Amino acid sequence: MKSIVVFCGSAEGYNEAYMEAAYELGSMLATQNIRVIYGGAKVGLMGAVADGALAQGGEVIGVIPHFLKTKEIAHEGLTELITVETMHERKMLMNKLCEGVVTLPGGWGTLEELFEMVTWSMLGLHKKPIGILNVNGYYDALKALNANVVQEGFLNESFAKSLLISDSATELLDMMHNYTPPAVAKWLTERTT
Ligand code: AMP
Repeated sequence: MKSIVVFCGSAEGYNEAYMEAAYELGSMLATQNIRVIYGGAKVGLMGAVADGALAQGGEVIGVIPHFLKTKEIAHEGLTELITVETMHERKMLMNKLCEGVVTLPGGWGTLEELFEMVTWSMLGLHKKPIGILNVNGYYDALKALNANVVQEGFLNESFAKSLLISDSATELLDMMHNYTPPAVAKWLTERTT
């Protein structure tokens, strides 16, 4: 993987473990010569990821819609800041530029971005690994929900398993490097009939 998209909060979160993990992830990606693609803000976990990568001399590309440029306080020290018109354009470009996704803790914006990549994957629109860094148990509730969606018959288990989750960034990147996309149909009925 040469480029990874990082989705994460524009807030810092209350526990300092979140900002630390974001900064460390940025550093780690840069030291592995992996280019960071992200939302282009200098605030919250978003800013910490960029700063961690830039401090190691890494390449960081921000993709930000015009109307959020001032609101989210665009990072001025990036390798490149690409301005787009809409949120949809932002996500499409981020997807185009990356070979994998890492999701850190964040709010609804982060989750929306994560779920869009997950659903695109299920529909076969991309075959990229999607990783979730479970800092401080933040995504334990999502793990439980992921299991429940399968248990209640709304998701093929292969797709639930294809969501890569770890509390270690090193392990998560290994899982992403070794990722094989599920070779099953999206629809449960196709699996069961
Ligand atoms: P948040 O996790 O809510 O702090 O947001 C993190 C990132 O997600 C920010 O760059 C937001 O611009 C972005 N975001 C917020 N809402 C949405 C949305 N509806 N669709 C896509 N991205 C969003």
